[in-house]
Amino acid sequence: MAFAITQTCCADASCVSVCPVNCIHPTPDEPDFGRTELLYVDPDTCIDCGACADACPVDAIFPAGDLTGPLQVYAEINAEYYAGRDVLAEATVAPNFHRWTPPAFTRILPSDFAALDVAVVGTGPAGMYAVEDLLLHTDARVTLVDRLPVAGGLIRYGVAPDHPSTKKIGETFARFHDHPRLRLRLGTEVGRDVTAAELAARHDAVVYAVGATGARRLGIPGEDLPGSLPAAVVVGWYNGHPDVAPGAVDLSAERVVVVGTGNVALDVARILTADPDTLAGTEIAPAALTRLRSGKVREVVLLARRGPETAAYTRPELLALAARPDVDLVVDNHDPRIGQAIDAAEPGDKATLLQGLPRETVDWSSPPPHGRRRIVLRFHSAPVEFTGDTEVRGVRASGAAGDVEITASRVVRAAGFRGAPVPGLPFDTGTGTVPNTAGRVEGLAGTYVAGWIKRGPSGGIGANKACARETVGVLLEDAVAGRLPVRRRRAGLASKLLGRA
Ligand code: SF4
Repeated sequence: MAFAITQTCCADASCVSVCPVNCIHPTPDEPDFGRTELLYVDPDTCIDCGACADACPVDAIFPAGDLTGPLQVYAEINAEYYAGRDVLAEATVAPNFHRWTPPAFTRILPSDFAALDVAVVGTGPAGMYAVEDLLLHTDARVTLVDRLPVAGGLIRYGVAPDHPSTKKIGETFARFHDHPRLRLRLGTEVGRDVTAAELAARHDAVVYAVGATGARRLGIPGEDLPGSLPAAVVVGWYNGHPDVAPGAVDLSAERVVVVGTGNVALDVARILTADPDTLAGTEIAPAALTRLRSGKVREVVLLARRGPETAAYTRPELLALAARPDVDLVVDNHDPRIGQAIDAAEPGDKATLLQGLPRETVDWSSPPPHGRRRIVLRFHSAPVEFTGDTEVRGVRASGAAGDVEITASRVVRAAGFRGAPVPGLPFDTGTGTVPNTAGRVEGLAGTYVAGWIKRGPSGGIGANKACARETVGVLLEDAVAGRLPVRRRRAGLASKLLGRA
Protein backbone atom coordinates (compact mmCIF):
# COMPACT_ATOMS: atom_id res chain seq x y z
CA MET A 1 0.00 0.00 0.00
CA ALA A 2 1.47 3.33 -1.09
CA PHE A 3 1.78 6.42 1.06
CA ALA A 4 -0.32 9.51 0.36
CA ILE A 5 0.15 13.21 1.06
CA THR A 6 -2.82 14.89 2.75
CA GLN A 7 -4.46 18.16 3.64
CA THR A 8 -1.77 19.89 5.70
CA CYS A 9 1.00 19.56 3.08
CA CYS A 10 3.17 22.69 3.21
CA ALA A 11 4.84 21.86 -0.14
CA ASP A 12 8.31 22.70 1.08
CA ALA A 13 9.55 19.48 -0.56
CA SER A 14 11.39 18.10 2.48
CA CYS A 15 9.90 14.73 1.51
CA VAL A 16 11.07 14.95 -2.11
CA SER A 17 14.74 14.81 -1.27
CA VAL A 18 14.42 11.70 0.92
CA CYS A 19 12.33 9.54 -1.41
CA PRO A 20 14.62 6.80 -2.72
CA VAL A 21 12.57 6.21 -5.88
CA ASN A 22 11.74 9.80 -6.88
CA CYS A 23 8.00 9.24 -6.67
CA ILE A 24 6.91 12.53 -5.08
CA HIS A 25 6.02 15.32 -7.48
CA PRO A 26 6.10 18.08 -8.48
CA THR A 27 9.71 18.49 -7.44
CA PRO A 28 11.29 21.95 -7.12
CA ASP A 29 12.63 21.51 -10.66
CA GLU A 30 9.26 20.93 -12.28
CA PRO A 31 6.95 23.56 -13.75
CA ASP A 32 4.05 22.85 -11.33
CA PHE A 33 6.15 23.45 -8.24
CA GLY A 34 5.33 26.81 -6.68
CA ARG A 35 1.81 26.67 -8.12
CA THR A 36 0.79 23.35 -6.67
CA GLU A 37 -1.57 23.15 -3.69
CA LEU A 38 0.17 20.06 -2.38
CA LEU A 39 2.69 17.42 -3.43
CA TYR A 40 1.60 13.95 -4.52
CA VAL A 41 2.95 10.41 -4.12
CA ASP A 42 2.81 8.19 -7.19
CA PRO A 43 1.09 5.05 -5.87
CA ASP A 44 2.49 2.92 -8.70
CA THR A 45 6.12 3.50 -7.84
CA CYS A 46 6.03 4.10 -4.07
CA ILE A 47 7.86 1.31 -2.23
CA ASP A 48 6.32 2.09 1.18
CA CYS A 49 9.60 2.86 2.89
CA GLY A 50 8.06 5.64 5.00
CA ALA A 51 11.04 7.98 4.63
CA CYS A 52 8.82 10.82 3.45
CA ALA A 53 6.53 10.53 6.47
CA ASP A 54 9.54 10.81 8.77
CA ALA A 55 10.83 13.87 6.92
CA CYS A 56 7.53 15.74 6.64
CA PRO A 57 7.63 18.81 8.94
CA VAL A 58 3.82 19.02 9.20
CA ASP A 59 2.82 15.35 9.61
CA ALA A 60 0.92 15.29 6.31
CA ILE A 61 2.00 11.87 4.96
CA PHE A 62 0.43 8.53 5.88
CA PRO A 63 0.05 5.03 4.43
CA ALA A 64 -2.95 5.38 2.11
CA GLY A 65 -4.57 2.36 3.72
CA ASP A 66 -4.54 4.04 7.13
CA LEU A 67 -6.47 7.11 5.99
CA THR A 68 -9.87 7.51 7.57
CA GLY A 69 -12.77 9.97 7.44
CA PRO A 70 -12.22 13.11 5.38
CA LEU A 71 -8.59 12.14 4.70
CA GLN A 72 -9.57 9.01 2.76
CA VAL A 73 -10.09 11.01 -0.40
CA TYR A 74 -6.38 11.87 -0.50
CA ALA A 75 -5.45 8.38 -1.73
CA GLU A 76 -7.49 9.19 -4.82
CA ILE A 77 -6.21 12.78 -5.03
CA ASN A 78 -2.59 11.59 -5.00
CA ALA A 79 -3.28 8.99 -7.69
CA GLU A 80 -5.25 11.47 -9.82
CA TYR A 81 -2.19 13.67 -10.22
CA TYR A 82 -0.42 10.89 -12.08
CA ALA A 83 -3.33 9.75 -14.25
CA GLY A 84 -2.31 10.00 -17.89
CA ARG A 85 0.88 11.93 -17.29
CA ASP A 86 4.55 11.17 -17.51
CA VAL A 87 6.03 13.36 -14.80
CA LEU A 88 9.60 12.57 -15.68
CA ALA A 89 9.02 13.67 -19.27
CA GLU A 90 7.57 16.94 -17.95
CA ALA A 91 10.56 17.60 -15.71
CA THR A 92 12.89 20.28 -16.98
CA VAL A 93 15.97 18.51 -15.63
CA ALA A 94 17.11 14.96 -15.12
CA PRO A 95 15.30 12.80 -12.54
CA ASN A 96 16.75 13.07 -9.06
CA PHE A 97 18.37 16.39 -9.83
CA HIS A 98 15.98 17.64 -7.16
CA ARG A 99 18.49 16.42 -4.61
CA TRP A 100 19.74 19.75 -5.49
CA THR A 101 22.06 22.27 -4.14
CA PRO A 102 22.00 25.70 -5.72
CA PRO A 103 24.85 26.34 -8.12
CA ALA A 104 26.32 28.99 -5.83
CA PHE A 105 26.48 26.51 -2.94
CA THR A 106 28.38 23.91 -4.93
CA ARG A 107 30.94 26.37 -6.25
CA ILE A 108 31.84 27.75 -2.84
CA LEU A 109 34.28 26.25 -0.39
CA PRO A 110 32.71 26.36 3.09
CA SER A 111 35.98 27.64 4.56
CA ASP A 112 35.60 30.83 2.50
CA PHE A 113 32.68 31.75 4.72
CA ALA A 114 34.07 30.98 8.12
CA ALA A 115 33.63 34.60 9.14
CA LEU A 116 30.67 35.66 6.98
CA ASP A 117 28.28 37.62 9.20
CA VAL A 118 24.71 37.76 7.93
CA ALA A 119 21.71 39.46 9.51
CA VAL A 120 18.32 37.93 8.72
CA VAL A 121 15.34 40.14 9.52
CA GLY A 122 12.17 38.17 10.15
CA THR A 123 11.60 34.87 11.96
CA GLY A 124 8.79 33.62 9.71
CA PRO A 125 9.18 30.82 7.14
CA ALA A 126 11.20 32.77 4.54
CA GLY A 127 13.64 34.07 7.14
CA MET A 128 14.02 30.67 8.77
CA TYR A 129 14.55 28.84 5.48
CA ALA A 130 17.33 31.37 4.75
CA VAL A 131 18.78 30.78 8.23
CA GLU A 132 18.62 27.02 7.69
CA ASP A 133 20.58 27.25 4.45
CA LEU A 134 23.17 29.60 5.93
CA LEU A 135 23.74 27.49 9.03
CA LEU A 136 23.63 24.07 7.38
CA HIS A 137 25.45 24.80 4.13
CA THR A 138 27.99 27.44 5.15
CA ASP A 139 29.92 28.40 8.25
CA ALA A 140 28.28 31.82 8.37
CA ARG A 141 27.29 33.46 11.65
CA VAL A 142 23.73 34.71 11.69
CA THR A 143 22.07 37.51 13.61
CA LEU A 144 18.34 36.79 13.54
CA VAL A 145 16.21 39.87 14.13
CA ASP A 146 12.47 40.23 14.68
CA ARG A 147 10.48 43.26 15.71
CA LEU A 148 8.17 41.12 17.85
CA PRO A 149 9.14 39.79 21.29
CA VAL A 150 8.31 36.20 20.24
CA ALA A 151 9.80 34.43 17.23
CA GLY A 152 7.73 32.57 14.65
CA GLY A 153 6.23 35.17 12.31
CA LEU A 154 3.54 33.71 10.09
CA ILE A 155 3.69 30.27 11.72
CA ARG A 156 3.12 31.66 15.20
CA TYR A 157 0.72 34.47 14.33
CA GLY A 158 -0.78 33.55 10.94
CA VAL A 159 -1.60 29.84 10.93
CA ALA A 160 -5.01 29.10 12.45
CA PRO A 161 -4.96 27.39 15.86
CA ASP A 162 -7.06 24.47 14.57
CA HIS A 163 -4.20 23.57 12.21
CA PRO A 164 -1.73 22.19 14.77
CA SER A 165 0.03 20.03 12.17
CA THR A 166 0.90 23.09 10.11
CA LYS A 167 2.06 24.94 13.20
CA LYS A 168 4.38 22.02 13.89
CA ILE A 169 6.78 23.28 11.25
CA GLY A 170 7.57 26.02 13.75
CA GLU A 171 9.38 23.39 15.85
CA THR A 172 11.59 22.61 12.85
CA PHE A 173 12.52 26.28 12.59
CA ALA A 174 12.86 26.86 16.34
CA ARG A 175 15.66 24.32 16.62
CA PHE A 176 17.91 26.89 14.93
CA HIS A 177 17.21 29.55 17.57
CA ASP A 178 19.74 27.89 19.88
CA HIS A 179 22.32 27.19 17.20
CA PRO A 180 25.82 28.17 18.40
CA ARG A 181 26.35 30.38 15.35
CA LEU A 182 23.06 32.25 15.72
CA ARG A 183 22.27 35.31 17.85
CA LEU A 184 18.59 36.01 18.35
CA ARG A 185 17.56 39.65 18.67
CA LEU A 186 13.84 39.81 19.37
CA GLY A 187 11.91 43.03 19.97
CA THR A 188 14.23 44.82 17.56
CA GLU A 189 12.58 46.79 14.79
CA VAL A 190 14.40 48.15 11.75
CA GLY A 191 13.68 51.88 11.60
CA ARG A 192 12.93 52.10 15.34
CA ASP A 193 15.71 50.29 17.23
CA VAL A 194 18.27 49.97 14.47
CA THR A 195 18.54 51.48 11.00
CA ALA A 196 19.05 49.54 7.80
CA ALA A 197 22.35 51.38 7.36
CA GLU A 198 23.54 50.27 10.82
CA LEU A 199 22.61 46.65 10.13
CA ALA A 200 24.43 46.81 6.79
CA ALA A 201 27.53 48.34 8.37
CA ARG A 202 27.74 45.62 11.03
CA HIS A 203 27.19 42.63 8.76
CA ASP A 204 28.57 41.33 5.50
CA ALA A 205 25.03 40.93 4.19
CA VAL A 206 21.46 41.52 5.37
CA VAL A 207 18.45 39.46 4.28
CA TYR A 208 15.03 41.02 4.82
CA ALA A 209 12.21 38.48 5.13
CA VAL A 210 9.61 40.72 6.71
CA GLY A 211 6.54 39.37 4.90
CA ALA A 212 3.52 41.33 3.74
CA THR A 213 1.47 42.39 6.72
CA GLY A 214 -0.64 45.14 5.18
CA ALA A 215 -4.10 44.62 3.72
CA ARG A 216 -4.99 45.18 0.08
CA ARG A 217 -7.65 47.87 -0.01
CA LEU A 218 -11.00 47.35 -1.70
CA GLY A 219 -11.43 51.01 -2.64
CA ILE A 220 -15.15 51.14 -1.89
CA PRO A 221 -17.23 53.52 0.25
CA GLY A 222 -17.53 52.59 3.92
CA GLU A 223 -14.37 50.48 3.93
CA ASP A 224 -13.03 52.26 7.01
CA LEU A 225 -16.23 52.29 9.05
CA PRO A 226 -16.02 50.80 12.54
CA GLY A 227 -16.98 47.14 12.26
CA SER A 228 -14.90 46.67 9.10
CA LEU A 229 -11.70 44.81 9.91
CA PRO A 230 -8.79 43.58 7.81
CA ALA A 231 -8.37 39.81 8.05
CA ALA A 232 -4.91 40.33 9.55
CA VAL A 233 -6.54 41.80 12.65
CA VAL A 234 -8.89 38.84 13.08
CA VAL A 235 -6.08 36.35 12.47
CA GLY A 236 -3.80 38.24 14.87
CA TRP A 237 -6.61 38.37 17.44
CA TYR A 238 -7.20 34.63 17.58
CA ASN A 239 -3.45 33.97 17.55
CA GLY A 240 -2.62 36.47 20.33
CA HIS A 241 -0.52 38.80 18.15
CA PRO A 242 1.10 41.48 20.35
CA ASP A 243 -0.12 44.26 18.01
CA VAL A 244 -3.78 43.24 18.27
CA ALA A 245 -5.82 44.04 21.38
CA PRO A 246 -7.61 41.07 22.99
CA GLY A 247 -10.91 42.88 22.48
CA ALA A 248 -10.28 43.87 18.86
CA VAL A 249 -12.95 41.57 17.40
CA ASP A 250 -16.55 42.06 18.48
CA LEU A 251 -18.68 38.95 17.96
CA SER A 252 -22.04 40.42 18.94
CA ALA A 253 -23.28 40.20 15.33
CA GLU A 254 -25.19 37.14 14.14
CA ARG A 255 -23.91 37.48 10.59
CA VAL A 256 -20.36 38.32 9.50
CA VAL A 257 -19.44 38.98 5.88
CA VAL A 258 -15.94 38.02 4.77
CA VAL A 259 -14.80 39.57 1.49
CA GLY A 260 -12.68 36.98 -0.28
CA THR A 261 -12.49 33.19 -0.67
CA GLY A 262 -8.79 32.53 -0.20
CA ASN A 263 -7.51 30.25 2.53
CA VAL A 264 -7.29 33.15 4.99
CA ALA A 265 -10.98 33.90 4.39
CA LEU A 266 -11.73 30.22 5.05
CA ASP A 267 -9.63 30.31 8.22
CA VAL A 268 -11.62 33.28 9.52
CA ALA A 269 -14.96 31.68 8.62
CA ARG A 270 -13.95 28.40 10.23
CA ILE A 271 -12.76 29.94 13.51
CA LEU A 272 -15.75 32.28 13.84
CA THR A 273 -18.21 29.40 13.39
CA ALA A 274 -16.28 26.77 15.36
CA ASP A 275 -17.62 25.10 18.45
CA PRO A 276 -15.33 26.80 21.00
CA ASP A 277 -14.86 23.49 22.81
CA THR A 278 -13.03 22.15 19.76
CA LEU A 279 -10.54 25.02 20.03
CA ALA A 280 -9.83 24.59 23.74
CA GLY A 281 -6.40 23.05 24.12
CA THR A 282 -5.12 24.58 20.89
CA GLU A 283 -2.81 27.59 20.74
CA ILE A 284 -5.76 29.98 20.38
CA ALA A 285 -5.43 33.16 22.45
CA PRO A 286 -7.36 32.69 25.71
CA ALA A 287 -9.17 36.04 25.29
CA ALA A 288 -10.33 35.02 21.81
CA LEU A 289 -11.63 31.70 23.08
CA THR A 290 -13.54 33.43 25.86
CA ARG A 291 -15.09 35.81 23.36
CA LEU A 292 -15.98 32.99 20.97
CA ARG A 293 -17.79 31.25 23.82
CA SER A 294 -20.01 34.27 24.39
CA GLY A 295 -20.22 35.30 20.71
CA LYS A 296 -23.44 35.36 18.71
CA VAL A 297 -22.14 34.56 15.22
CA ARG A 298 -24.39 32.04 13.47
CA GLU A 299 -23.52 32.69 9.85
CA VAL A 300 -20.44 33.74 7.91
CA VAL A 301 -20.88 34.81 4.28
CA LEU A 302 -17.91 34.52 1.93
CA LEU A 303 -18.13 36.93 -1.00
CA ALA A 304 -16.35 36.01 -4.24
CA ARG A 305 -16.15 38.22 -7.31
CA ARG A 306 -15.60 35.25 -9.57
CA GLY A 307 -17.30 31.90 -10.05
CA PRO A 308 -16.78 28.57 -8.27
CA GLU A 309 -14.48 27.32 -11.03
CA THR A 310 -11.83 29.93 -10.09
CA ALA A 311 -12.35 30.28 -6.34
CA ALA A 312 -9.22 31.34 -4.48
CA TYR A 313 -9.26 28.64 -1.79
CA THR A 314 -7.19 25.49 -2.18
CA ARG A 315 -8.82 22.12 -2.59
CA PRO A 316 -7.61 20.69 0.76
CA GLU A 317 -8.99 23.64 2.72
CA LEU A 318 -12.42 23.53 1.07
CA LEU A 319 -12.60 19.74 1.48
CA ALA A 320 -11.84 20.11 5.18
CA LEU A 321 -14.46 22.82 5.57
CA ALA A 322 -17.11 20.74 3.79
CA ALA A 323 -16.32 17.77 6.04
CA ARG A 324 -16.95 19.63 9.29
CA PRO A 325 -19.70 17.89 11.23
CA ASP A 326 -20.80 20.94 13.23
CA VAL A 327 -21.26 23.58 10.51
CA ASP A 328 -23.26 23.59 7.28
CA LEU A 329 -21.64 24.80 4.08
CA VAL A 330 -24.18 26.31 1.67
CA VAL A 331 -23.92 27.82 -1.83
CA ASP A 332 -26.02 30.95 -2.50
CA ASN A 333 -27.75 30.11 -5.78
CA HIS A 334 -28.50 33.72 -6.78
CA ASP A 335 -26.89 33.46 -10.22
CA PRO A 336 -27.62 30.68 -12.77
CA ARG A 337 -23.95 30.57 -13.75
CA ILE A 338 -23.12 29.11 -10.33
CA GLY A 339 -25.24 25.97 -10.64
CA GLN A 340 -24.18 25.54 -14.25
CA ALA A 341 -20.49 25.68 -13.35
CA ILE A 342 -20.90 23.20 -10.49
CA ASP A 343 -23.03 20.74 -12.46
CA ALA A 344 -20.82 20.84 -15.55
CA ALA A 345 -17.54 20.52 -13.63
CA GLU A 346 -15.29 17.65 -14.70
CA PRO A 347 -13.08 15.66 -12.30
CA GLY A 348 -10.16 17.85 -11.28
CA ASP A 349 -12.09 21.12 -11.78
CA LYS A 350 -12.35 23.25 -8.67
CA ALA A 351 -16.13 23.51 -8.96
CA THR A 352 -16.48 19.76 -8.38
CA LEU A 353 -15.72 20.43 -4.72
CA LEU A 354 -19.16 22.02 -4.42
CA GLN A 355 -21.07 19.16 -5.96
CA GLY A 356 -23.42 17.75 -3.37
CA LEU A 357 -23.51 20.88 -1.23
CA PRO A 358 -26.93 22.42 -0.58
CA ARG A 359 -27.85 25.43 -2.73
CA GLU A 360 -30.39 28.03 -1.81
CA THR A 361 -31.38 31.51 -2.85
CA VAL A 362 -30.77 33.40 0.38
CA ASP A 363 -33.01 36.23 1.57
CA TRP A 364 -30.38 38.66 2.80
CA SER A 365 -32.86 41.02 4.42
CA SER A 366 -33.64 38.36 7.03
CA PRO A 367 -31.42 37.36 9.93
CA PRO A 368 -29.55 34.05 9.66
CA PRO A 369 -31.64 30.96 10.32
CA HIS A 370 -31.62 29.48 13.80
CA GLY A 371 -30.23 26.02 14.34
CA ARG A 372 -26.82 24.92 13.14
CA ARG A 373 -24.18 27.50 12.31
CA ARG A 374 -23.41 27.86 8.66
CA ILE A 375 -21.03 29.29 6.09
CA VAL A 376 -22.53 30.62 2.86
CA LEU A 377 -20.48 30.86 -0.33
CA ARG A 378 -21.74 33.66 -2.56
CA PHE A 379 -19.98 33.64 -5.93
CA HIS A 380 -20.20 36.22 -8.76
CA SER A 381 -20.77 38.94 -6.21
CA ALA A 382 -18.48 41.90 -5.57
CA PRO A 383 -18.82 44.29 -2.63
CA VAL A 384 -19.99 47.69 -3.86
CA GLU A 385 -20.25 49.56 -0.56
CA PHE A 386 -20.18 48.95 3.18
CA THR A 387 -23.34 50.68 4.38
CA GLY A 388 -23.87 52.45 7.71
CA ASP A 389 -23.38 55.87 9.25
CA THR A 390 -21.32 55.47 12.37
CA GLU A 391 -20.54 51.76 11.95
CA VAL A 392 -21.10 49.00 9.41
CA ARG A 393 -24.73 48.01 8.99
CA GLY A 394 -24.38 45.83 5.94
CA VAL A 395 -22.67 45.16 2.62
CA ARG A 396 -24.16 46.18 -0.71
CA ALA A 397 -23.02 43.49 -3.10
CA SER A 398 -23.56 42.91 -6.81
CA GLY A 399 -25.65 39.96 -7.97
CA ALA A 400 -27.39 38.50 -10.99
CA ALA A 401 -30.64 40.31 -10.16
CA GLY A 402 -28.93 43.60 -9.24
CA ASP A 403 -27.32 44.78 -6.04
CA VAL A 404 -28.47 43.35 -2.72
CA GLU A 405 -27.83 44.57 0.79
CA ILE A 406 -26.53 41.83 3.05
CA THR A 407 -27.38 42.81 6.60
CA ALA A 408 -24.28 42.38 8.74
CA SER A 409 -22.71 44.58 11.37
CA ARG A 410 -19.26 43.01 11.02
CA VAL A 411 -17.20 42.73 7.84
CA VAL A 412 -13.78 41.15 7.41
CA ARG A 413 -11.69 42.18 4.42
CA ALA A 414 -9.71 39.16 3.24
CA ALA A 415 -8.89 40.38 -0.26
CA GLY A 416 -5.16 39.81 0.00
CA PHE A 417 -2.08 41.09 1.77
CA ARG A 418 0.34 43.79 0.81
CA GLY A 419 3.94 44.46 1.75
CA ALA A 420 4.84 47.56 3.75
CA PRO A 421 7.94 49.73 3.20
CA VAL A 422 11.02 49.00 5.28
CA PRO A 423 12.74 52.25 6.33
CA GLY A 424 16.00 52.59 4.43
CA LEU A 425 15.07 50.18 1.63
CA PRO A 426 13.60 51.03 -1.78
CA PHE A 427 9.91 50.16 -2.19
CA ASP A 428 7.67 49.60 -5.19
CA THR A 429 4.28 51.01 -4.23
CA GLY A 430 2.65 49.27 -7.19
CA THR A 431 3.57 45.73 -6.17
CA GLY A 432 4.11 46.28 -2.45
CA THR A 433 7.56 44.69 -2.71
CA VAL A 434 11.20 45.74 -2.43
CA PRO A 435 12.56 45.96 -6.00
CA ASN A 436 15.00 43.10 -6.47
CA THR A 437 16.51 40.69 -8.92
CA ALA A 438 16.47 37.08 -7.68
CA GLY A 439 16.61 38.51 -4.14
CA ARG A 440 19.31 41.17 -4.66
CA VAL A 441 17.89 44.54 -3.65
CA GLU A 442 18.33 47.02 -6.45
CA GLY A 443 20.88 49.73 -5.68
CA LEU A 444 21.90 48.34 -2.27
CA ALA A 445 24.84 45.95 -2.54
CA GLY A 446 24.89 43.40 0.28
CA THR A 447 21.15 43.72 0.91
CA TYR A 448 18.71 40.94 -0.03
CA VAL A 449 15.06 40.02 0.32
CA ALA A 450 13.21 36.71 0.63
CA GLY A 451 9.57 35.68 0.90
CA TRP A 452 6.53 37.88 0.29
CA ILE A 453 8.43 41.17 0.51
CA LYS A 454 10.51 39.83 -2.41
CA ARG A 455 7.94 38.21 -4.69
CA GLY A 456 4.58 39.50 -3.42
CA PRO A 457 1.95 37.82 -1.23
CA SER A 458 1.45 34.51 -2.99
CA GLY A 459 2.44 30.93 -2.27
CA GLY A 460 2.20 29.05 1.00
CA ILE A 461 4.78 28.20 3.62
CA GLY A 462 6.73 25.75 1.49
CA ALA A 463 7.10 28.15 -1.45
CA ASN A 464 9.43 30.19 0.75
CA LYS A 465 11.99 27.41 0.83
CA ALA A 466 12.96 27.69 -2.83
CA CYS A 467 12.57 31.49 -2.63
CA ALA A 468 14.97 31.77 0.33
CA ARG A 469 17.37 29.32 -1.25
CA GLU A 470 17.57 31.46 -4.37
CA THR A 471 18.30 34.51 -2.23
CA VAL A 472 21.02 32.79 -0.19
CA GLY A 473 22.47 31.47 -3.45
CA VAL A 474 22.91 34.94 -4.94
CA LEU A 475 24.24 36.24 -1.62
CA LEU A 476 26.97 33.60 -1.72
CA GLU A 477 27.69 34.32 -5.36
CA ASP A 478 28.16 37.97 -4.47
CA ALA A 479 30.47 37.05 -1.62
CA VAL A 480 32.65 35.00 -3.95
CA ALA A 481 32.65 37.72 -6.56
CA GLY A 482 33.66 40.40 -4.05
CA ARG A 483 30.39 42.28 -4.38
CA LEU A 484 29.63 42.48 -0.64
CA PRO A 485 30.66 46.01 0.40
CA VAL A 486 31.86 45.19 3.94
CA ARG A 487 33.63 42.03 2.94
CA ARG A 488 35.18 43.06 -0.33
CA ARG A 489 38.77 42.24 0.57
CA ARG A 490 38.07 38.81 2.02
CA ALA A 491 35.72 37.79 -0.78
CA GLY A 492 38.29 38.99 -3.30
CA LEU A 493 40.73 36.55 -1.77
CA ALA A 494 38.13 33.78 -1.96
CA SER A 495 37.62 34.52 -5.64
CA LYS A 496 41.32 34.17 -6.29
CA LEU A 497 41.39 30.88 -4.44
CA LEU A 498 38.64 29.67 -6.71
CA GLY A 499 40.46 30.90 -9.80
CA ARG A 500 37.68 33.33 -10.62
CA ALA A 501 39.57 36.64 -10.26
FE1 SF4 B 1 8.92 7.65 -1.56
FE2 SF4 B 1 9.15 5.90 0.51
FE3 SF4 B 1 7.45 8.02 0.70
FE4 SF4 B 1 6.87 5.98 -0.98
S1 SF4 B 1 7.01 5.88 1.26
S2 SF4 B 1 6.75 8.19 -1.43
S3 SF4 B 1 8.95 5.41 -1.68
S4 SF4 B 1 9.72 8.11 0.52
